[in-house]
Amino acid sequence: NGAQERGRIMMKYADLVEQHAEELTLLESLDAGKPRMATRAVDLGTSVRSLRYFAGAADKIHGETLKMSRQFQGHTLREPIGVAGLIIPWNFPAIMFFSKVAPALAAGCTMVVKPAEQTPLSALYFAHLAKQAGVPDGVINVITGFGPTAGAAIASHMDVDMVSFTGSTSVGRLVMEASARSNLKPVSLELGGKSPLIVFDDADVDMAVGLAISANFFNKGEACVAASRVYLQEGIYDGFVKKLAQRMESWVVGDPFDPRVNQGPQVDKVQCERVLSYIDHGKREGATVLTGGKPCGQSGYYIEPTVFTDVKDDMIIAKEEIFGPVMCLMKFRTVEEAIARANDTRYGLAAGVVTKDIDVANRMTRSIRAGVVWVNCYFAMDSDCPFGGRKMSGFGKDDGMHALDKFLAVKSVVTPVYDSPW
Ligand code: ADP
Repeated sequence: NGAQERGRIMMKYADLVEQHAEELTLLESLDAGKPRMATRAVDLGTSVRSLRYFAGAADKIHGETLKMSRQFQGHTLREPIGVAGLIIPWNFPAIMFFSKVAPALAAGCTMVVKPAEQTPLSALYFAHLAKQAGVPDGVINVITGFGPTAGAAIASHMDVDMVSFTGSTSVGRLVMEASARSNLKPVSLELGGKSPLIVFDDADVDMAVGLAISANFFNKGEACVAASRVYLQEGIYDGFVKKLAQRMESWVVGDPFDPRVNQGPQVDKVQCERVLSYIDHGKREGATVLTGGKPCGQSGYYIEPTVFTDVKDDMIIAKEEIFGPVMCLMKFRTVEEAIARANDTRYGLAAGVVTKDIDVANRMTRSIRAGVVWVNCYFAMDSDCPFGGRKMSGFGKDDGMHALDKFLAVKSVVTPVYDSPW
């Protein structure tokens, strides 16, 4: 059974990634500036879980029996779509690699994977482990290179049958254009965000502050789901701000190999300068700096975790994706206002709601236009939880059984039931 064999190889691949987690963590921390402790648990842990989850799915991909009119019977086949082009960003190199490679393998596709030019190391190691696990030659092809050359070659290639892309909204647009100009390959895009975290008066302040910190400063804010718009109901605002300022006093920025460190350097000079220019915009537009607001350290691309208060919805820092450790605090009064302001964005990736009121929570989860709404939690992602946005955050799902769909082509097969009418 080919599908079962694929699953077996993927399980072996997962074991190998787990066995080499120490080296892989070092590579990932070195390449992306991630604190080592968290990288081992989060980035490598998630990668292994992804492989095991989709390994189990490999032999459970089947079609339907169709109830056609009397004369015919039909069924559908879900076949591998062919060659998958997988273009990956630099913020979670390992997680992104397996959130695409694992379902593509389970579906039976071959693939060309392009890691980001900033962070190619773990992908190369994963390719090496794939060989050891018994993945046949030619199935996983890792190609390093720059976006406009190597990435664009995949997006415009006539023999690539689909592209799954994670990255910026502007490059997502280029990928879709390249597909339209070449062979109209289907694309799946996981793009930027400007996600809201909405904290109601009845929330536990400590918990809400903790969520806001991790939702903005985890992975130095280099996360597409970062909750960079934090809306606080007016009754909780002052207490929240006070507690947040206190909590940030013990936040440590520095060498990602030091176990006490919470936040490493930004991925490179370009990103660091981009984030600092957003911080300058915030200051110039009249927002108040509560914490941080400048680079730190003697060398390297370190930025102080920055919290702005008095942010207005039309400020650039409240509208554009910053992709760095910058949190914007805004005040609101009613549920209706929170819904309207949360949805007043081009993006629709994620949202967080903090409340003990089940009615408010239900209303928010139904009203927010986003791919995921987290209630009293944030960043709660897992292999079986579909992930992917709406609006200009893209379309198509990574993770969960839905992730398989983009790697499969549905074929209908029809035969006469009795004698052929022809
Ligand atoms: P960022 O702007 O955050 O660096 P990008 O969207 O540029 O993120 O990068 C995500 C991935 O897309 C990377 O692997 C990058 O090399 C690739 N990429 C960049 N430009 C293109 C392009 N024109 N076509 C295809 N892939 C690209």
